[in-house]
Amino acid sequence: MKKSDLILNVVIPCYNEEEALESTYKVLNKKMNSLIKENLISKKSKVVLVNDGSKDNTWNVIKKLHEENNMYVGVNLSRNKGHQNALLAGLMYAKDNCDISISMDADLQDDINVMDDMIKKYNEGSEIVYGVRNSRKKDSFFKRFTAEGFYKFMNIMGVEVVFNHADCRLMSKRALQELSNYKEVNLFLRGIIPQLGFKTSISYYERNKRVAGESKYPLKKMLMFAMDGITSFSIKPLRMIAFIGFIILMCSIIAFIYSIVMKLLGNTVVGWTFIVCSIWLIGGIQMLSLGIIGEYIGKIYNETKKRPRYIIESIID
Ligand code: UDP
Ligand code: MG
Repeated sequence: MKKSDLILNVVIPCYNEEEALESTYKVLNKKMNSLIKENLISKKSKVVLVNDGSKDNTWNVIKKLHEENNMYVGVNLSRNKGHQNALLAGLMYAKDNCDISISMDADLQDDINVMDDMIKKYNEGSEIVYGVRNSRKKDSFFKRFTAEGFYKFMNIMGVEVVFNHADCRLMSKRALQELSNYKEVNLFLRGIIPQLGFKTSISYYERNKRVAGESKYPLKKMLMFAMDGITSFSIKPLRMIAFIGFIILMCSIIAFIYSIVMKLLGNTVVGWTFIVCSIWLIGGIQMLSLGIIGEYIGKIYNETKKRPRYIIESIID
C-alpha cells in the first residue's frame, strides 16, 4: 500500500496541564502511531503543544516530551493569553507546517478516536470538520446545563455557532490560511470559523470526563466568553434597545388615551395626565433614539473590524 503523505498537526493548548499531559501523551502516541500504520497520515505528522503561560511545570513536561519523541513540538507563549489565543498560535504554527490540523484540549475530553472519521471526511472533500458532542452524560448536570445554555443563548443573540461544538475540529491548510486573514483582537474562533464557508461536515463523538486536573472554564469565565462571543459577533443587543424603545412608544400612545379618558371622566387629580403622558413619551423617544445611535455604532463596529468581505475558493481561467 502506498504510504500517505498527508501531514497532520494536532494542536493542543495547555494551561496548567502537567497532570493531564502524561496520560494524554500515552493515548495520543498510540493514536498517532495507528493512524500512521493505517496509512491515513504521514510519518512527518506532529503534535503541537502550546504552553499558554502555565504557572506549573507544563513547559518542562512539554520539553521533556519533545526530547523523548520528535513528533512533539512545543510553542511557548510569553504569558497566559487564554484558550482562544493559545489555540490560534498553535494553528498558525500548523498553517505553515501541515496539510491538515486537528485541534483538541489537553484533557482528552474529546474522544480522540474521532480523528479517523475527521480525516475520512477531509478525504471526501471537506475543508473543515466540526467535532460535535453527541451527549454530555459524563459532564456534571451543572456543566451540561450551562454549556448547552451557552450555545442556545449565542444563537438567540445572533451569533452563528455549531451546537455543542467546542474547539475540537479539523481544518485544512486552505482554511487555516483564510483564518489567518481575520485580524481581530477579540478572538472567538467558534464564531469565526463558520464564517469561512467552504465545504464542512460534522463528526460526532462522546464527551468524556477530564483525565486529570480541573476545568479551566469555571462559570465566570464561561459567562465572559459568551459575552465576548456576542459582542464581537452581533449587534443584536443594540437593535434590541431600538425595539424596546419602539414598544415603549406604542405603550405611551395607550397611556395617553387612557389618561385623557380618565381626565374626561374626572377620576384624576390636577397634573396627573400631563405627568403620565410625559413619562411614557419621553421614555419611549429616548430609548428609540438610543437604539438609532446604537445602529450607527454597530456599523462603525463592523467597519473597524476590517474583516475580509469574501473568500475566493477557486478560480478557473
Ligand atoms: N486553556 C488554555 N488557556 C487558558 C485556559 C484553558 O490554553 O487560559 C486550555 C486548557 O489547557 C485545555 C483547553 O484550553 O486544553 C480547554 O480547557 P478546559 O478543559 O479547562 O475547559 P472545559 O473542557 O472544562 O470547558
Ligand atoms: Mg476540558
